[in-house]
Amino acid sequence: MRKKIVAGNWKMNMNYEEGIELAVSLDKYFTDKAPSGTEVIICPPFIHLAAVSQALKSGNIALGAQNCASEASGAFTGEVSASMISSTGAEYVIIGHSERRTFYNEDDSLLNKKTILALESGLKVIFCCGEIKEQRENGSHFEVVKRQIEKGLFPLGKEAMENIIIAYEPVWAIGTGLTATPDQAQEMHLHIRGLVREKYGTEIADKLTILYGGSCNPSNAADIFSRPDVDGGLIGGASLRKDDFVAIVEAREQT
Ligand code: PEP
Repeated sequence: MRKKIVAGNWKMNMNYEEGIELAVSLDKYFTDKAPSGTEVIICPPFIHLAAVSQALKSGNIALGAQNCASEASGAFTGEVSASMISSTGAEYVIIGHSERRTFYNEDDSLLNKKTILALESGLKVIFCCGEIKEQRENGSHFEVVKRQIEKGLFPLGKEAMENIIIAYEPVWAIGTGLTATPDQAQEMHLHIRGLVREKYGTEIADKLTILYGGSCNPSNAADIFSRPDVDGGLIGGASLRKDDFVAIVEAREQT
């Protein structure tokens, strides 16, 4: 059985007080109603991590960061290392989000470097991939995602894959209100699982959790999650609203 996951990516939203408030209220909700088969993760901004870690008392919500440095430590002003993230109690880190690729020019080899450092620091990596609109329209989307995964992940050894989650996030669907259809999500997830199978074998591929991300919300989540290779979601906008996030977790629980 693969692990089902619903992860919230808060991006650069929520000041410190608001962030703690949201974390506390989610924690209270999931204390009373513990998810039975879904790992719930929240990924607040860096400066919230330590306090959110303390606020999550139920043990039913895991913590993640949205990025990490590409160096282990030292004179890199403004950066936050994977080991610092891990020292807050966070267990996950998102790497390769399209906003990092686009706005901060993070390329495949840098993302591979970050992934290695994150794994060495004991973090699990939510590795994002996905095509832009033009690539979907010209039919190169499968090739684009293949390249991102081959360059970003496939230098890793087999054991490392135990701590990798892949998030397929078509860039044209992120924050746009446009969602991939369940069929589009399923066929790309199947493609990704196939690539992993070819490289690492059936056991690793069958165990790999693959999340869908891109305008996932309470009305479309159940449909998307009903597909066999969609193991959960990486949720942006809707993760900032407690009721919506909870509804998406429940959709995952029920499908
Ligand atoms: C994301 O940024 O990872 C994301 C999926 O955003 P949204 O849900 O807002 O499209």
